[in-house]
Amino acid sequence: MRTKISALLASQQTDIEVVAKGWVRTKRGNKNVTFIALNDGSTINNIQIVAESANFDEELLKKITTGASLCVRGTLVASPSSGQPVEILAQQIELYGAADPEKYPLQKKGHTLEFLREIAHLRPRTNTFGAVFRIRHAMAFAIHKFFNDKGFYYWHSPIVTASDCEGAGAMFSVTTFDISNPPRTEQGRVDYAEDFFAQHTNLTVSGQLEGEMGATALGEIYTFGPTFRAENSNTPRHLAEFWMIEPEMAFYDIDDNMDLAEEFLKYLINYALNNCDEDLAFLEKMYDNDLRERLRFCVADHFCRITYTEAIDILKASGKKFEFPVSWGLDMQSEHERYLVEEHFKKPIMVTGYPKEIKSFYMKLNDDGKTVRGMDVLFPKIGEIIGGSEREADYDTLVERMVEVGVPVEEMSWYLDSRRFGTVPHSGFGLGFERLILFVTGMSNIRDVIPFPRTPGNAAF
Ligand code: ATP
Ligand code: MG
Ligand code: MG
Ligand code: MG
Repeated sequence: MRTKISALLASQQTDIEVVAKGWVRTKRGNKNVTFIALNDGSTINNIQIVAESANFDEELLKKITTGASLCVRGTLVASPSSGQPVEILAQQIELYGAADPEKYPLQKKGHTLEFLREIAHLRPRTNTFGAVFRIRHAMAFAIHKFFNDKGFYYWHSPIVTASDCEGAGAMFSVTTFDISNPPRTEQGRVDYAEDFFAQHTNLTVSGQLEGEMGATALGEIYTFGPTFRAENSNTPRHLAEFWMIEPEMAFYDIDDNMDLAEEFLKYLINYALNNCDEDLAFLEKMYDNDLRERLRFCVADHFCRITYTEAIDILKASGKKFEFPVSWGLDMQSEHERYLVEEHFKKPIMVTGYPKEIKSFYMKLNDDGKTVRGMDVLFPKIGEIIGGSEREADYDTLVERMVEVGVPVEEMSWYLDSRRFGTVPHSGFGLGFERLILFVTGMSNIRDVIPFPRTPGNAAF
C-alpha cells in the first residue's frame, strides 16, 4: 500500500520505510544521483525522490521523464534541502508507464490557461488544476455538510423533464432513437425527432419546481446537480452545463431566505479559508494577489441589502458610461452589478424587489403589484452568484401570473397541486456552483473551474 504524498510530507516520523506512487513533475541530477519531484494529486507539493545511480539501471532512470508514473519504495528521511521537510531515499523504483518527452504536452515550462483548455483531459495534472479541483471537492463536501447539519434533506430532482422552469432558459431537447438504426431524413441525415418516448422533454435548466414539491412535504431540502442551458453566450461566467445548489424551504419568507443565503456563502468561504490554505496560497501567488484578503473581507461584515429601485437610482446617479442602458424595468447586466459591488458598496450585496416583468412567474408578488420578492446576491468579480425568491404561494395569484406570461397552466397542474392542497409560504434560491468556485479560487474564466467545460462548440471531451 502507498502512503499519500500529503501524508508523507506531514509525517512526524522519519527513517521509516515507505511506498509512494505518483507522476513525475520534474527530474534533475548528475551522473551520481537523480532527483525526482513526484506528485500524486493529494497536495500541491511534490515529494523529492533521491535515486543514487549506483543502485539503479541506467535505462530505467532514462525513462523517468516528466509525466511518467512510478512506484517508489524507500526510506523517508529528513531533507537536507530547505523548502521541504522530508524526502525519500529510493531503494526500488518501478516504472508503471513512461511519457514520451517528444509527445507529452505538459513539460516543465509554464503553460497558458488557454493552451491547457485545449487539453482539458490532462490539465488536472498541473498544479493550477490540481488546486482548483481539490477546492471544488472541498466546496461540494462543505455544501452537503452545511445543509446536513441544518437538517435539510438532499433531494434529487430529475435531469430529463418536460417543464421549463424559467420560461426563458434556452433548453437542450432530449431525443430518443435506436442508435443502430436511427431514423433518417430524405437527405440521409439522422432525424433528431423531438421526443422522449413520444413525449417532448428537455434537460433541466433548474431543479426548483420539483424542489418545491420536496420542501412542501419534507420542510427543508436542497438539490445539488447538473443543470443545462443552451445559451449561446460566450462569457467568462456562463457554461452550457453547470452545477447548481438549490435549497427550498417551507415557512421561509424572503428575509429568512436572504439570511440563509448570506450564512451559506460565508460558511463556504470560511470553509475554504480553513481547509484549503495551501491551494489558495498557490492560486493567490499565481493569479490573484488579493485572493485570501478578498475572501476574508467578504465574510467579515454583513452583506448590503438594497432594492432594485435603489440600485437603479445609484446606477443613474453614478455618472458612469455603461455599455447597456440603465432604466427602471430593465434587467441589470454584469457591468451594472459589478459597479454596484466593486465601486459603490465595495462589498457583497443582495438586491430585492425586481420588476415582475424581468423575473419568473413563480416569484411572490409584492403589494404594489409591480415588483416581486426576488433576490439576487451579487459578488465582487462575479456579479450574480445567487438568484432566488419567496415563491408565490397563493393559487389564484399564481395562475393569473402564469396566464399573464404564457406558462401552460394545464401542463403545470402537478406543480399547482402544491398551492391547491395545503399551500404554505416558502422560499428558495439557486447558487451556481462554478460561480462559487470562480470566486473562491480567484480564477477568471468559468471554463477553468470545471473538469470538462461545455460551451458552444465545445463538447469533444
Ligand atoms: P445570469 O444573469 O448570470 O445569466 P441567471 O439569472 O440567468 O444568471 P438563474 O436562473 O438565476 O441565473 O440561476 C441561478 C444561478 O445559477 C445564478 O445566480 C448563477 O450563479 C448560476 N448560473 C446561471 N446560469 C449559468 C450558466 N450559464 N453557467 C454557470 N452558472 C450559471
Ligand atoms: Mg442567464
Ligand atoms: Mg440574472
Ligand atoms: Mg438569476
